[in-house]
Amino acid sequence: MTATETKTFNTTGFFDGEYTVNSPKGGHRTFRIKTMGPDSRFAPQEQTVAILVGSNNEEDYKSFAFLQEGGMRVYKKQIGTETAKAGLVLVSLLRQDLLGQKLTEAGYTVLESRRCYRCQRLLTDPVSIEAGMGPECRSK
Ligand SMILES: [Zn+2]
Repeated sequence: MTATETKTFNTTGFFDGEYTVNSPKGGHRTFRIKTMGPDSRFAPQEQTVAILVGSNNEEDYKSFAFLQEGGMRVYKKQIGTETAKAGLVLVSLLRQDLLGQKLTEAGYTVLESRRCYRCQRLLTDPVSIEAGMGPECRSK
């Protein structure tokens, strides 16, 4: 089975990719939703959600929950943490459930990451996503 076929059979309702949540207070957090491969040592074929914890937006993610049809199952160690709360905001915004609609009304938004159209690097900063280019390419 190829990776694409695995993705097709995913029934959680969430799409793999990187997403950036903007808070109306000004901050933003980036997440990666990823379906583990069938040969993964950790949680094969489960869909996980991770949060960006470093400066490398291709690598520095820490997973904290599984995604399932209808929601998120947080790892035991992460229950009640700020990361888990941030994840709930992401999942609610993506599903546009009751909480998601309230968050949207309050000014929260979620953007799916794109790649810079000049250098193909992953864009996770809201300004860069909107512009379609990273800061270095914008300044050229
Ligand atoms: Zn670029």
